[in-house]
Amino acid sequence: MFGVKKMERVILHADANSFYASVECYYHPEYKDRPLAVCGDPEARHGIVLAKNQAAKRFHIQTGEAVWQARQKCPELVVMPPHFDAYQQFSGALQSLYGEYTHRVEALGLDECWLDVSGMSCSVREGQHIADEIRMRAIREIGITLSVGVSFNKTFAKLGSDLKKPNGTTVITRRDMPYTVWPLPASDMLMVGPHTMQKLRAMGVLTIGDLACCDPRVLQRRMGKCGLLLQELAAGRDITPVTETAAADEIKSIGNSTTPPFDIVHLDDARQVFYVLAESVSARLRAAGFRAKCISVSARTTELVTASHQCTLSRSTDMTHEIMDAVMRLFAERFGGHFPYRSVGISTSQLMDSRTPEQVSLFFNEEQRAKRLRLEETIDTLRGHYGKGIVVRGSLMDEKGVQLRGAEQQEEENRHEIPGDNKFKGVTSILVHNGARLPSGKGKR
Ligand SMILES: [Mg+2]
Repeated sequence: MFGVKKMERVILHADANSFYASVECYYHPEYKDRPLAVCGDPEARHGIVLAKNQAAKRFHIQTGEAVWQARQKCPELVVMPPHFDAYQQFSGALQSLYGEYTHRVEALGLDECWLDVSGMSCSVREGQHIADEIRMRAIREIGITLSVGVSFNKTFAKLGSDLKKPNGTTVITRRDMPYTVWPLPASDMLMVGPHTMQKLRAMGVLTIGDLACCDPRVLQRRMGKCGLLLQELAAGRDITPVTETAAADEIKSIGNSTTPPFDIVHLDDARQVFYVLAESVSARLRAAGFRAKCISVSARTTELVTASHQCTLSRSTDMTHEIMDAVMRLFAERFGGHFPYRSVGISTSQLMDSRTPEQVSLFFNEEQRAKRLRLEETIDTLRGHYGKGIVVRGSLMDEKGVQLRGAEQQEEENRHEIPGDNKFKGVTSILVHNGARLPSGKGKR
């Protein structure tokens, strides 16, 4: 048997561009191209700039400077007071969007989050597709642009999100590290504040590369353990995990949906698309350590009417073929005679810890089942290591270009809700994207 190397993590850092200013421009599109700053107490002379939009940046307006200084630089500056409730709601909307891709989402302030997408993306390069999709959806569904860094650890993902602003994805692979990350000033790293930077400068350490390559004994002598930790981060050995916002037992369902580039006109089309979805859903169940007892299928007609149909299995599963059997049965029962369909989805719920023992059934060939499970787990590992293309099921699809629209993680419904303000109604309903709540005329397409 060959050894399989440990899977490299794929971590995204999504940073909302000029967040406060973007939210203000969302409500006041007329200011979008005018220089705008969100300022604490704009009437008072001591009010300072909290955020500014792109147009204001062109006047070199700085966050933290006094309003009167900003107005000197740009007399026509639109000055807005902050609306933290709105920022909170947009922040929640963004986190719900991220939550559709992974439950491992860690917020850093209102406008930044790390996402660990290792479970669904096989390489840092492939993480780029997820990042690009999230950026596009954030614009379309929430009205906010993001800069996203994709890398194999949190430190570099964060650095990456600073490199293309606004609205860009930056990938930093292990191989890129010496060229992309190391020339950056050490002060760009999250944990290097002005005080630390002063100490580093005194040692001749200016860039992240200097920090990665300097003598650890010197670092330790001058800065103690903190110095060594910083060196680990600079050298790409940041192993800190993305802390999950929702504990595992809060995840109520795992699902995925897609709108293929073609309409689904007969059962064979449906089977091909569902197979891709079932594979991704089962892989995500296994990655999260769950088995599901309830399977639900949804389909959306070309008139954008969505319906769903579900069943409870006699025993829980995390295996593609078992999910697929249930899905095709459900689909044939409820949707079989009503082609064409525009999009379809699978959702699994009644999740349980996959370590929970289950009664062995007379109706299952346990030995064969165990074998298939091992096979699916091996495929997960191979794909995790070599990329999704390494194992493609014979029955699959690519010729039609089916693409997953990213994992649809339907956690508790109320995680999607944005309370109160009905200005956000559109956002709320679009986020819940199994279609049932899509308001007419405000869909994704
Ligand atoms: Mg930001």
